[in-house]
Amino acid sequence: MALLRSIRSVVVGVRNYGVSAVQKAPPKILITGGLGQLGVECAKYLRAKYGRENVILSDIIKPSTEIFNDGPYIFADILDFKGLQKIVVDHRVDWLIHFSALLSAIGEQNVPLAVRVNIEGMHNVIELAKQYSLRIFVPSTIGAFGPDSPRNPTPNITVQRPRTIYGVSKVHAELLGEYYHHKFGLDFRCLRFPGVISSDPPGGGTTDYAIAIFHEVLRKGHYQCYLKPDTRLPMMHVRDALRALSEFLEAPSEILTRRVYNVTAMSFTPEELSDRMVKHLPEFKITYRPDSRQEIADSWPQVFDDSEAQRDWSWKPRVDLDTLVELMIREVKEKILANGYHCVH
Ligand code: NAD
Repeated sequence: MALLRSIRSVVVGVRNYGVSAVQKAPPKILITGGLGQLGVECAKYLRAKYGRENVILSDIIKPSTEIFNDGPYIFADILDFKGLQKIVVDHRVDWLIHFSALLSAIGEQNVPLAVRVNIEGMHNVIELAKQYSLRIFVPSTIGAFGPDSPRNPTPNITVQRPRTIYGVSKVHAELLGEYYHHKFGLDFRCLRFPGVISSDPPGGGTTDYAIAIFHEVLRKGHYQCYLKPDTRLPMMHVRDALRALSEFLEAPSEILTRRVYNVTAMSFTPEELSDRMVKHLPEFKITYRPDSRQEIADSWPQVFDDSEAQRDWSWKPRVDLDTLVELMIREVKEKILANGYHCVH
């Protein structure tokens, strides 16, 4: 055991010297669904690490001038297999980060589209990754668990059986990726993220309240929450999420005992979050009016067990709840003012 630990720390040490220690040239990375909450920040993060031209952002949406000027941006529809093949060949892609998806609340509103984007799209990218020997990262979620799963804590391997099409499609992606790994040797990597909190507008998930609350309170002074005050869910600041993604992508295959890992940073309820916010914004009001998202949240993990990620590739979160509140107040305020709006706080 001690020997295994020391081998692991040497490997992690080598990894920390950066790409050049393990690879000759930085990888060429394609991000699908890149104009969502995570993609733009992810491109910034990886461009700082691997170089601006080595990270290609893609989506089916027209980008803002700022995003277009930030680095390479192209159209890529994940439902168009030939189009994806052309991109991989033309740009000599090595790693694929597959973000395109319809999230939990949006998926329930349009199940056939969620099946196409989340399931057919996954078939395309995994086949593509196999054909061109790409390293492929696909995020999963706490939504890949359901009412039969243990909720506090939720271990890496347990009963899943989610009740949303989003969750069903993510379990499908996890299993397909593991299967392609065992059958074809595909370098498939998947992290189950909790609610990811950043100042960018969220994409229609159930944990979005923890972002919307900052925007509404800073602009209007009050927030009506769609979850009950005691709804506990796992969460993580985007800085930690992107660091987890990057460290996991760089981890040598030999130290990974799994292809799918839980990661998290904290768990809190709307009431606990607003109590921390009151320390900085004493005037604000929160009211509660649960809607259909309450049922989704009630079937999800409350506390996520990421001990396997900690053990295998030394995962460790850095942003706690107090720091998250400070960061969000500062970053959301900057975004509101940059967009020409006024802050009441
Ligand atoms: P998002 O909804 O903000 O963005 C998804 C993007 O996919 C959108 O920009 C959309 O235009 C794009 N898309 C839709 N159809 C497409 C198609 N046919 N071809 C190409 N792109 C298409 O999502 P996000 O919050 O940025 O999440 C990114 C990934 O991370 C998702 O797979 C999500 O499941 C996962 N994840 C996110 C969170 C979170 O809290 N944000 C938590 C866990 C997992």
